[in-house]
Amino acid sequence: MRRLFSIENLTFIAIILGILSGVYLKDIVINLKLVGNAFLNLLKMITIPLIFASIFVSIASLASIKDIKDMGIKAIVYYFSTTALAVFTGIVVVNFINFSPVDGMNLSSDGFEHKKFTVEALIQSFIPSNIFQSLVEGKVLHVIIFSILFAIAVLKLQQSKKEVITRFFEGVNDSMLTVAKWIINLSPLGVFALVSYIVADKGLGSILSLWQYVLAVVVGLLIHAVFNLGLIGFLFGKFNPLSYFTKVKEALLIAFSTSSSSATLPVTLEVAEERAKIDKKTAGFVLPLGATINMDGTALYEAVAAMFIASLYGIELSIGEQIIIFFTASLAAVGAAGIPSAGLVTMTLVFTAVGIPLEGIAIILAVDRFLDMLRTATNVWGDLIGAKIISRFVR
Ligand code: ASP
Repeated sequence: MRRLFSIENLTFIAIILGILSGVYLKDIVINLKLVGNAFLNLLKMITIPLIFASIFVSIASLASIKDIKDMGIKAIVYYFSTTALAVFTGIVVVNFINFSPVDGMNLSSDGFEHKKFTVEALIQSFIPSNIFQSLVEGKVLHVIIFSILFAIAVLKLQQSKKEVITRFFEGVNDSMLTVAKWIINLSPLGVFALVSYIVADKGLGSILSLWQYVLAVVVGLLIHAVFNLGLIGFLFGKFNPLSYFTKVKEALLIAFSTSSSSATLPVTLEVAEERAKIDKKTAGFVLPLGATINMDGTALYEAVAAMFIASLYGIELSIGEQIIIFFTASLAAVGAAGIPSAGLVTMTLVFTAVGIPLEGIAIILAVDRFLDMLRTATNVWGDLIGAKIISRFVR
């Protein structure tokens, strides 16, 4: 009985009820925005201290610089290869589906705000000039870079000094995870509020008119999450992806409801360490970094979206152009922050690279939030599979 009413099951039920009440009780649940945002803010509240402390503790507990390089290289190889595989999957799915013209589609750019994303901006987004400002503004990548440098420097300190600092951040990390547990207990309520509000606000109707595009993204994400990542976990991590899924599913449900890998991070860390028993060293490094730069779902979706819009404009994409999409979508996903709609902004990089009109992005705005939910869950699943595989190779 207790298992039946576990937080994961209640959260899942909350998503279903959220969708139904968003459709049938629209006028009532539209008022739940406040509750949903309160839940989201609770998660965001602990994200920055948690990222800082978990990366710090993870590195400071490694024995040497060589171990850091070792784990870092493994993580990066995993992130890049799985992201590339995701984009490849998206491109193959689109080539199979072969989009046909959409009736009555008007190519207007109303409601779309141009935010150009450039490689220069991507590089700058790595280097903080004032770490306190970055902490305040929640610039996750800056916080990660600084905590890695800080932890490596601490490794070189005298033993007594090193111990004081490390103990302190271990305390910060553990207490933030305790707060995360409390917030997780609220997730059925928070998730219900978030999902019902989104459905009431956006309406499910838009999904119908863009069904080909939605189908391509959903099928691509499913193939990548179930088949590609499942197989990679099985082959390289030697674990059963299904039983791993049942242990970590709470994080995926939260990712789905919040559309934010960063806001989900406290839950991702909690389920990985407490339920899946991944060692803190690996989880504390691979998951925060992954939540920021490893976005398989986003990369796949950006490639599919670019190809869909191109087809609406009657642009025939050559193999060469599809290769450009492959590289730029992978890069753009790295640059996307772990927040709602981030992928929509970095997608301009892909569009610009192949000359697709940026206005085209306006067409897919209506369904973006729904797809964001699915791609964020895929992003977090990719991080979790990576943590499990890498933990196998870390001493
Ligand atoms: N919302 C996604 C995430 O947080 C990023 C995106 O917009 O694709 O992982």
